[in-house]
Amino acid sequence: MSYQHKYVDGTNIHFPLGKVVCIGRNYAEHAKELDNPVPTEPLLFIKPGSCVVALEGGFAIPTERGSVHYEAEIAVLIGKPLSTKPSREEVLDAISGFAPALDLTLRDKQAELKAKGLPWEIAKSFDGAAVIAPFVVGSTFPDVTDIGIRLTINGEVRQDGNSAIMLNPIIPMIQYMAGCFSLQAGDVILTGTPVGVGPLNVGDELVLELPGVSRFESHVR
Ligand code: ZN
Repeated sequence: MSYQHKYVDGTNIHFPLGKVVCIGRNYAEHAKELDNPVPTEPLLFIKPGSCVVALEGGFAIPTERGSVHYEAEIAVLIGKPLSTKPSREEVLDAISGFAPALDLTLRDKQAELKAKGLPWEIAKSFDGAAVIAPFVVGSTFPDVTDIGIRLTINGEVRQDGNSAIMLNPIIPMIQYMAGCFSLQAGDVILTGTPVGVGPLNVGDELVLELPGVSRFESHVR
């Protein structure tokens, strides 16, 4: 089934699925848990649209390719084009929605690539590597510096973060991204993962939430 951006009420969002622009190591405690230095400038990477699947109804993981880690992240849906130094107001105006999402990572493969100084695409851009829940409208969060993100697996809270503790807050992050490559309506920003990443297993039951705003149950097939 092909992916389509949706709002939580089930209505389709009529933007084509674009690229997924991601930031790595955007929470200090998460950088430390993987023994990575905290970067001095934003560490960006892109997942192509072919990675994206919907959270609802369960999703599959490529267990035959080694350890598959979850990274719960706040996803931002871009609804207007942004390029070269947009203002804060332009960025805010271009945000169409927020959702919880999973940036899935082949962690063994990523470690191998990192050790060789190679790009991460094989570990980050496989089919199904971006799992996205339905969006709430952008105006749900007048203050984008206070958005929670929480992942519970098999009844245990594994990740519980907030945009307040991001190293690169959402608006300056998107300004920086738009200066690196144009963003278009239908692109999604994954804003980094808080501490607590770990492996997923087939049969895991997940609850992924923007606490107090949206909550979704899913499972690993
Ligand atoms: Zn991530």
